[in-house]
Amino acid sequence: MVASEAQIREWLTQVTDPEIPVLTIEDLGILRDVRHGKDGVTVTITPTYSGCPAMMAIRMEIVRALREQGVERVRVEEVLSPAWTTDWLSQDGRAKLLAYGIAPPAGKAQRKSALFGEPDTVACPQCGSERTSRTSEFGSTACKAMYRCEDCLEPFDYFKCI
Ligand SMILES: [Zn+2]
Repeated sequence: MVASEAQIREWLTQVTDPEIPVLTIEDLGILRDVRHGKDGVTVTITPTYSGCPAMMAIRMEIVRALREQGVERVRVEEVLSPAWTTDWLSQDGRAKLLAYGIAPPAGKAQRKSALFGEPDTVACPQCGSERTSRTSEFGSTACKAMYRCEDCLEPFDYFKCI
């Protein structure tokens, strides 16, 4: 039986970000394309962040998830252009991040904040307060920054707009 591309996408919902396991690669917006040709399945992804070691794990997970379904020939291709931005996070993905306790990126990708330093207001994922301050440029991974809420005093990760 030849699996349809829709079926393959369905199977790929098992593949999640190893650092934020509630997010599938579809939620992240890094799953660009699925093709099923004579020579097997080609999955095209765009890495979130060139320094993310998670991408290696994600590639392996894609191959594993499809092999489990009997797809023997899997190729994972990376497309670097256009570059991934946090705008590609799905609405589902944003909701899941918030439920997971990570503030989703605020608004559009903040190319300008890289120039001017400060991001827009980041709301606390615990209590929703906008009285938050950045405690560290880098959180648990390079893709996140550490914040602290001034109201409930909880520290939290913020998924940086890149
Ligand atoms: Zn709070």
